[in-house]
Amino acid sequence: MVDMNSSARSEGHAYRGRLAPSPTGYLHLGHARTFWTALSRCRQHGGTLVLRNEDLDRSRVRPEYTPSMMEDLHWLGFEWQEGPDVGGQFAPYSQSQRVGWYEEVMTKLRATGRVYACRCSRQDILRAASAPHASDNEPVYPGICRDLGLCDGGGFAFRFRVTDGEVIEFVDGRMGGQRLVAGLDFGDFVLQRGDGVFSYQLAVVADDHAMRVTEVVRGEDLLRSTARQIVLYRALGWEVPEFYHCPLLLDDQGRRLAKRHDSLSLRQLRALGISAEEIRRRWLCAGRG
Ligand code: GLU
Repeated sequence: MVDMNSSARSEGHAYRGRLAPSPTGYLHLGHARTFWTALSRCRQHGGTLVLRNEDLDRSRVRPEYTPSMMEDLHWLGFEWQEGPDVGGQFAPYSQSQRVGWYEEVMTKLRATGRVYACRCSRQDILRAASAPHASDNEPVYPGICRDLGLCDGGGFAFRFRVTDGEVIEFVDGRMGGQRLVAGLDFGDFVLQRGDGVFSYQLAVVADDHAMRVTEVVRGEDLLRSTARQIVLYRALGWEVPEFYHCPLLLDDQGRRLAKRHDSLSLRQLRALGISAEEIRRRWLCAGRG
């Protein structure tokens, strides 16, 4: 179980929140809604908001989306106190420039004896550099390479060995008490791909810790990733932040809004003459602002 006393809910931490977009396409309403909740919660707490550019996945990221993402956020009325454009005490704020830090964290994780090389070529390895929004139901890794004792250097990926049966509990700011079980709800997860790219799970924990984030606001499709990340915080002996998981915006077929919904990109809405005020007013009317 997570020791709640060691979480960032403890007194004395000034609130620090973050927006963590990945520049893989134009921002759409789904992201913006979650980010607006992050901004609102940060304001309610009189906190500091960090913008982190999650440009880790070289195969999916396109550099031109970074300025467009910031422009779209500004258009919608966002402001942040630290970020790639404004700097800050925890710079750099783009993950592509933070690889040295991820290497350090990987070394710390190796020292726990729970990192092993994996030669499987599975989808979760290929996708590991992105947050698993759509594929969070990835089957639990069956542990094929768990006990093979493969050595490094063969272009293998690296996984983190979870303790089967370990219960991860935390109190979500919106959804209340959560309970996930390692080996059942999630299995050994990827820390680094065979091509050296670090995984979303490793990078996001490394950065939220380094940037002193006290509350992580994200979509509820990432609950299982939150549990994986708590496992990492614990392995590293780091304080666990608070979590607040937002409801997902769904399309008319009940699918999560994603970048494939071009018509709902902020750019497109703006081009149609819809104002930022109108978007924000609708959110407030929906009672979730
Ligand atoms: N860059 C990730 C995404 O866009 C962040 C997810 C998170 O909040 O940790 O999905």
